[in-house]
Amino acid sequence: MDSETQIGTVIRVHGGHYYVRIGDTELDCRMRGRIKKNKSDVQLVAIGDHVEILYSELEGAIIENILPRKSALLRQSPPPRSFRPGQVHYGKGEEAQVIVANPDQVVVVFSLLDPEPNPLMLDRYLVACEAVELPILIVANKVDIVDQSEPDLMNLYEEIGYHVIRTSAVSRQGLSELYNALHGKISVLTGPSGVGKSTVMNALWPQLNLKTGEISEIHGKGKHTTVVAELFYLEEETFVADTPGLRTFRLWDIQPQELDAFFPEMAPFRDQCHFQPCSHLHEPKCAVQAAVDSGQISDIRYESYCRMYEQGF
Ligand code: GDP
Ligand code: ZN
Repeated sequence: MDSETQIGTVIRVHGGHYYVRIGDTELDCRMRGRIKKNKSDVQLVAIGDHVEILYSELEGAIIENILPRKSALLRQSPPPRSFRPGQVHYGKGEEAQVIVANPDQVVVVFSLLDPEPNPLMLDRYLVACEAVELPILIVANKVDIVDQSEPDLMNLYEEIGYHVIRTSAVSRQGLSELYNALHGKISVLTGPSGVGKSTVMNALWPQLNLKTGEISEIHGKGKHTTVVAELFYLEEETFVADTPGLRTFRLWDIQPQELDAFFPEMAPFRDQCHFQPCSHLHEPKCAVQAAVDSGQISDIRYESYCRMYEQGF
């Protein structure tokens, strides 16, 4: 190999080794010492980061430079009790941890049956995704075991404006549409277990050879827990991140007063309420409640809103 630098994507980090994908090859890289000294960024290198690699016979593959991040999914610990809304918080002296750098979208996977989708649970995922301000794709899997001539819960989400792809790993329905939606992107896959995340990924990219249930929540609770996360390389420029649990997202940070911002269908109404701010729970002349009464906002979604407002997550 010559001494030109090449750009690759970090897919795994372990004990000072950075595993970087460049096209079809995976390189075990070390980091140039001076990079560590120069940067005071939130976590220097995370999976999803694009890096410049220099290879030499003498040193092997070395990360010479880290390209700027265009986005990041962060894991933060809950704030101390003295936390005030609007404050920037990175936990008690500990830095925010980058779960995935440069994600292009979050793919929320549910199944239409077995397990049947629970709207409150789906709404929690959607609110969490809205709060991290990443594009959202809903995948409704296991269409092969439902009567597709009947309307289903996903119609509601399509009406709101979410992009829903109905899939089946068995009949392969929707798989090419899903392939197109994932191609060329870094996607963060999330959703409850048992809905078919691993099976669908295997159906698209058999070489992944994931065990059933292998794409599952990362359980990282305490600050000493190492989050072992991996970016699965699917093909050129196409990656899927191991599922971060819902707690990864910004949920603890969402104040009830800002919850309506994460229900996109409430946007046309929230500024028309008589009282400002309005919780939309019991105030008179509330435009959101009026929209629920007239059917412009669904009862199901409004119920999720009320539950989350009153009980948190
Ligand atoms: P994960 O926990 O989300 O990764 O779910 P798995 O991929 O482990 O799948 C859970 C179960 O659902 C397995 O028994 C799969 O065989 C089954 N499954 C996955 N996709 C489909 C599908 O499209 N149709 C049907 N009928 N079953 C599926
Ligand atoms: Zn209101």
